[in-house]
Amino acid sequence: MNEMTTIDRTQRAYSPAAQAFLARKPALFINNEWVSSSHDKVIEVEDPTSGKIVGHVVDASDRDVDRAVAAARAAFDDGRWSGLPPMVRDRTMNRLADLLEANADLFAELEAIDNGKAKGMAGAVDVPGAISQLRFMAGWASKVAGETTAPYTMPAGAVFSYTLKEPVGVCAQIVPWNFPLLMAALKIAPALAAGCTIVLKPAEQTSITALKLADLVAEAGFPAGVLNVITGNGHTAGDRMVKHPDVDKIAFTGSTEIGKLINRNATETLKHVTLELGGKSPVVVMPDVDVAATAAGVSGAIWFNAGQVCVAGSRLYAHRSVFDQVLEGMAQNAPFWAPRASLDPEAHMGAIISKEQHDKVMGYIEAGKRDGASVALGGDAPSNGGGYFVNPTILVDVNPQMSVVREEIFGPVVVAQRFDDLDEVAREANNTCYGLGAGVWTKDATTMLKLAGKIKAGTVWGNCHAVIDAALPFGGYKESGIGHEQGRLGIEAYLETKTVIIQM
Ligand code: ADP
Repeated sequence: MNEMTTIDRTQRAYSPAAQAFLARKPALFINNEWVSSSHDKVIEVEDPTSGKIVGHVVDASDRDVDRAVAAARAAFDDGRWSGLPPMVRDRTMNRLADLLEANADLFAELEAIDNGKAKGMAGAVDVPGAISQLRFMAGWASKVAGETTAPYTMPAGAVFSYTLKEPVGVCAQIVPWNFPLLMAALKIAPALAAGCTIVLKPAEQTSITALKLADLVAEAGFPAGVLNVITGNGHTAGDRMVKHPDVDKIAFTGSTEIGKLINRNATETLKHVTLELGGKSPVVVMPDVDVAATAAGVSGAIWFNAGQVCVAGSRLYAHRSVFDQVLEGMAQNAPFWAPRASLDPEAHMGAIISKEQHDKVMGYIEAGKRDGASVALGGDAPSNGGGYFVNPTILVDVNPQMSVVREEIFGPVVVAQRFDDLDEVAREANNTCYGLGAGVWTKDATTMLKLAGKIKAGTVWGNCHAVIDAALPFGGYKESGIGHEQGRLGIEAYLETKTVIIQM
């Protein structure tokens, strides 16, 4: 691990375009215009690599939220978006995707500066992911359709009955800080395709790429008020959005704790709610695997994005016969994931989002040690005097009662355990309140299918991890969420079904 301590983690220079964007006056994007807040409260933009404040965004007031919701409400109610030919909605969304593509390098850089993630990863994963969400969902604008259905109790021809699919209405979309642009695109794409209008709020830690996205909205051709972007704190602006009587639907990605709170708050006005929440995803390694390839895969499962991934493979269960080799293989992969400055071209892992999150991750490692866990790899926090880094970490000698095994750490920390047979590992994999993702590594098709069936999770990956695709539904079992995003289910989450029955 010596190599990890000698890395120069000084942040690299920002491009002139990034500097110019960060220097902009804090503003909100409402009705296709940049407008000032009703008050002068701002949120600092911090570069987690350096710990330096590099800009400011608006901390939206209640009046700001009301203004954005009013814009979305008016844009929905007069049908300026839902009334357009689906072909036009499709084309407008694809134009936004084109503009994202044309600005891909700047988006990747801004994401790296604001979130701390490696720019190379942002360019390879976040930005293309956002583009594909928009392009895939754009096609649904013209494929959404109801059905003509004959009634059960009436003779043929007595009535003409059919269903219509209609947009839900004004959507408040609240996204987290781990994949800011990707999460924003994942939220807006199905809503726009369905004909909804939107108030989008990025996380207070990472507002920059959502604001840059807003910059492209008018140019792409969206009518005013269709997609509004506001920045602000969760407990103020977010809360106002959730409780607002003119909002029809809440789509939230974030922690299970806040998801539960939002669900309770949205009940008052009976809003539609979809929630994508936390996880503690198990990764099962069977004895028959190619150890080197599997070790690389399970390393990426936990260390990609510094483990700040809702589906991070944070509980490793390796069969007793390969446990030691898998951990050795992960140790060999660790230098690849050594944390670096987010703009360092060699970076694969960057900084942790904030001091708060950094301290939380280190607190978990300390709690694990106090509970009797041993550090097999990492466990320490390299410093460059300002940024928030944690080395790739493996904890062993753990048991199911420990907080490091039960709770979502949201950092580059995996707890590794041995198992002997399939039923035992399936039981342990399911010994969690979460059910978001799971990984199974084996060459044996029967074992793969058995485990895919037994594990209670919204997605099970076989010999891969965290593969996300716009066409494939994504959602959580148990306390990992309500509803689905992506695929046909993703667009249906933004549609109402109306039944029409006409006496003939
Ligand atoms: P994390 O734990 O990953 O920081 P949170 O669940 O706290 O994530 O936050 C995710 C998103 O939810 C952010 O955009 C945040 O501003 C927002 N948020 C936090 N608290 C609330 C709340 N009470 N009501 C609405 N949104 C909230």
